[in-house]
Amino acid sequence: MMRALSPEQVVIVGGGQAGGRCAEALRAAGFAGRVTIVGKEVHLPYERPSLSKEMLISDEDESIVWVRPEQAYAEERIELRLGVTATSIDRDRRELHLDDGSVLIYDALVLATGARARQLTVPGADSVPLHLIRTIEDSRALRSRLSAGTRLVIIGAGFIGLEVASAARHRGAEVTVLEAADRVMARAVPPEISEHHTALHRSHGVNISLGTSVVSIAREGDAIALRGSGGETFVADVVVVGVGIEPNDELAREAGLETDRGVVVDAFGMTRDPQVFAAGDVARHYNPLLKQHILLESWQNAQNQAIAVAKVIAGGDAPYAEIPWFWSDQFGVNLQVIGLPSADAKTIVRGTSGQVPYVLLQTRNGRVLSACALNAPRELRFARELISSGAVLDEAMLGDPGVRLADIVRDVKQRKVPA
Ligand SMILES: Cc1cc2nc3c(=O)[nH]c(=O)nc-3n(C[C@H](O)[C@H](O)[C@H](O)COP(=O)(O)OP(=O)(O)OC[C@H]3O[C@@H](n4cnc5c(N)ncnc54)[C@H](O)[C@@H]3O)c2cc1C
Repeated sequence: MMRALSPEQVVIVGGGQAGGRCAEALRAAGFAGRVTIVGKEVHLPYERPSLSKEMLISDEDESIVWVRPEQAYAEERIELRLGVTATSIDRDRRELHLDDGSVLIYDALVLATGARARQLTVPGADSVPLHLIRTIEDSRALRSRLSAGTRLVIIGAGFIGLEVASAARHRGAEVTVLEAADRVMARAVPPEISEHHTALHRSHGVNISLGTSVVSIAREGDAIALRGSGGETFVADVVVVGVGIEPNDELAREAGLETDRGVVVDAFGMTRDPQVFAAGDVARHYNPLLKQHILLESWQNAQNQAIAVAKVIAGGDAPYAEIPWFWSDQFGVNLQVIGLPSADAKTIVRGTSGQVPYVLLQTRNGRVLSACALNAPRELRFARELISSGAVLDEAMLGDPGVRLADIVRDVKQRKVPA
């Protein structure tokens, strides 16, 4: 890659996981210039996965996972401008304008503005309190409303909606999940995993209603009435909306940078302006392994893409090239997904439906494309190696429970299996 970047001042917009890790990695890579993080939230950078899991369960232990302790920022001369929002970028002058009236000059700008939870837009949605889960405050507000007997309706059976369902049942709430699609987590996992998790939730007393869109919402005394697309009414004390995210890409778009539901960047996290980068949930980046632009909403991507961008700014030339990985914890079952599950791939199951541990592999022309593991993290690691190897494998062997994935990986490494 040809670059003429030798920055002295790096400004990172967004004090989330990607922003915090990017700053840390700049110092780790030897960057000695000025580093500033501008963050809208008042908190130090933190990780979000616990917000829909542990944090909702325990009143005593908030389980907030800080990216780094406060003193680390001071020790490494990373300036924190928290509770401040970046309002515009002047790319000609290399200025970032903030809502407190100040202006920061940059040589390299990293957009790590993440995403916000998508709002519900049906009639009546703005007339009742609806909970979204994206911040510490969101999680605290919901937790304070969940107790035994609370009637909770969750709109959307994605990862976050289902994790909230699991935590809420733990607190004794009566939980109903309304999902417009015909299966849960449909965007992210194959049908077999959806079926497993639907049964898992139902076995824990969650009422899951598939093929049900919410068409309107109204206040009904102290309660909230949700009208479903099938004409039925669901009554709730508390409503959580978990219908996806909107990348915070407005700053980039208004600055004339290319956006496509996310800031479009190359494999190095760079926009078409070599002084402006993006990482994390806001970045629609080119993945050289998958040979496509993708936007990922995951811990791994926030962490490692941000680190990769920092290294590039500090003078490195390695692209961010990883197989996507994601996890979710619901009712004591750890689900991990590696690769991008595809509707037209062949499915190979290792395990018994409805039971854990369970591993599902997807293949195309004998190559492993993706894997889902239920309470089987070790198996997932082997699946990752098979995906990375690109080896053409005997599908009967892959599905044979008598043949360990570990042994197949060993054979691939010893080149007994052609790549
Ligand atoms: C409830 C929840 C549970 C999750 N669970 C999992 C999980 O189990 N496994 C997994 O792999 N991933 C999980 N994720 C996804 C993972 O947490 C995200 O991918 C990650 O937080 C993205 O980090 P980020 O830094 O890119 O964005 P964010 O965390 O969204 O941080 C961006 C920050 O930028 C700030 N910002 C935005 N605009 C501006 C501006 N103009 N000026 C200043 N600051 C600005 C925002 O306020 C925010 O603080 C979960 C996410 C959520 C919300």
